[in-house]
Amino acid sequence: METIQAPGHATHEVRNQSQPLEDFNVFTSDTVLREAVSREGGDFAVERIEAVGAAGGSAEAIRWGFEAEGNRPELKTHDRFGHRIDEVEFHPSYHQLMKLHVEGATHALPWREPEPGAHVARAAAFMCVSAADAGTGCPISMTYSVIPALRKQPELAEEWEPRFTSLEYDGRLVPAAEKPGALCGMAMTEKQGGSDVRANTTTAEPVNGGGPGAEYEITGHKWFCSAPMCDAFLVLAQTESGASCFLLPRFTPDGERNRMHLQRLKDKLGNRSNASSEVEFRGAWARMVGEGGRGVPTIIEMVNHTRLDCALGSASGMRRGLEQAIWHASHRSAFGKELIEQPLMQNVLSDLAIESEAATISSLWLARQFDQAHAGDEQSALRRRLATPVLKYWICKRAPWHAVEALECLGGNGYVEESGMPRLFRESPLMSIWEGSGNVQALDVLRAMVKSPEAVEAFFAEVEEAFGSDNRLDAFAEATRRELGDLEQIESRARRVVERMALALQASLLVRYGDEAVADAFCATRLEGDWGNAFGTLPAGTDCSRIIERHRPLL
Ligand SMILES: Cc1cc2nc3c(=O)[nH]c(=O)nc-3n(C[C@H](O)[C@H](O)[C@H](O)COP(=O)(O)OP(=O)(O)OC[C@H]3O[C@@H](n4cnc5c(N)ncnc54)[C@H](O)[C@@H]3O)c2cc1C
Repeated sequence: METIQAPGHATHEVRNQSQPLEDFNVFTSDTVLREAVSREGGDFAVERIEAVGAAGGSAEAIRWGFEAEGNRPELKTHDRFGHRIDEVEFHPSYHQLMKLHVEGATHALPWREPEPGAHVARAAAFMCVSAADAGTGCPISMTYSVIPALRKQPELAEEWEPRFTSLEYDGRLVPAAEKPGALCGMAMTEKQGGSDVRANTTTAEPVNGGGPGAEYEITGHKWFCSAPMCDAFLVLAQTESGASCFLLPRFTPDGERNRMHLQRLKDKLGNRSNASSEVEFRGAWARMVGEGGRGVPTIIEMVNHTRLDCALGSASGMRRGLEQAIWHASHRSAFGKELIEQPLMQNVLSDLAIESEAATISSLWLARQFDQAHAGDEQSALRRRLATPVLKYWICKRAPWHAVEALECLGGNGYVEESGMPRLFRESPLMSIWEGSGNVQALDVLRAMVKSPEAVEAFFAEVEEAFGSDNRLDAFAEATRRELGDLEQIESRARRVVERMALALQASLLVRYGDEAVADAFCATRLEGDWGNAFGTLPAGTDCSRIIERHRPLL
């Protein structure tokens, strides 16, 4: 307790305020995440995840997060003599966070060490650094995700993969060959079309005949190109054979700056530590990746992985909000009792905990499908095909509602920047927009159902693994299948169907692997509808104390 004292005039004592939640291990303090890593095969890397978890929750990294967000990146298009330089300057804390990511292999672990469970371990480590800052997750996720697309062009993969998977971070803008490690971005979206990339007008002209791996010159623009200080980008551009994919480095082979001109940086709602630019390519040098005219299927290899990261990033955001809410409620009293003892606050915290547990368990399960699909398991590849857009859609959709309610648990303090909650809130809608917005995810599920009906079978076989344990799940999943079988106005019903699929999958995983009280309340509310329209409307009889204890950060 501290007394506030002007000379001779003590005004009040500071009491009943919370403490900062920092200098804790965001991995070991999270029971649900630890259990999920172990269950899904990530145990081999647990010591490394613990190290990243300690760094991600350190007071220093949390400070870096605030500084990187508060001191926005600045674009320098020209030097003082008028030469184009197209550089973005970041606050030193941004570079510290990038170093934390890269040294923790959050961009590369499964490609460096393709062990069973490597995507799971990497997913957990990625979530741990995201605790300190979300914006740096963007270039990290793109660098992790580019590898499967790049491998479509083996000689390019041979040259670039060692750079993209290096554990040394070097933020300088110099030719990649002169750096110990490099990062990759992605540029698809144009002014006239983002979701509909067929509308792209950027063109690529062959330099020496063209074809897979050959040199091209790219002319056109991109309306969104995040992390423009990356060393190379996968870019979509039109050729004679249609939309094609290219690897476009910041420097040409003769060491000149490539003709990729940064026009301006976006003034964004959130994700401010990350720079998102508008660019023009004026005959920029690039090499084709994969076959001409097959650009979308090639770059989709990358996008599938970034979609996994959207689910992970949203799950991480929910955990951050929840741990802050539980922490605050444990340190603040009102009306004679700690908030955490107040029955209605217990209901709110438990409801937030249920959503967080469902998001963490299902996104780590999804990471395991990536592991197994990369190892050649066909059923996992089918499960992944449908579960990626289903979970990307639903987990990201839940994030803003979760963030706003977690923020309110801190009362007025939650609305103040220093708490970190406004940042969490500003960040929360983004995951649902990029890498395919909500409707695009829902329509992708329909597309997958038509093109590979066996993916539907694999998806529901997974859900049915829990059949017999909870009648509410059995009935809900069967009704969902019936909804799916009804093709009447299916496009307009796509969100509804996909939401139900996500809930069925999350319920099945919770019933098998989650806490009993959490699974029971999830089925009662999300499946049976014994619930209101806001968080904190769990039915009477829910074991809130048990749910909160399970989610309380273990310090
Ligand atoms: C901060 C930020 C960073 C980004 N960074 C990058 C980047 O690095 N590289 C990159 O390539 N892109 C990037 N993007 C772009 C992002 O991927 C697109 O904004 C997104 O894919 C949506 O495209 P759009 O903005 O053109 O919207 P549109 O495609 O015009 O969509 C507008 C709305 O219509 C919906 N919609 C679209 N088609 C249909 C349909 N058939 N039926 C029903 N609804 C439909 C969409 O779901 C969306 O809600 C970034 C975006 C943001 C906000």
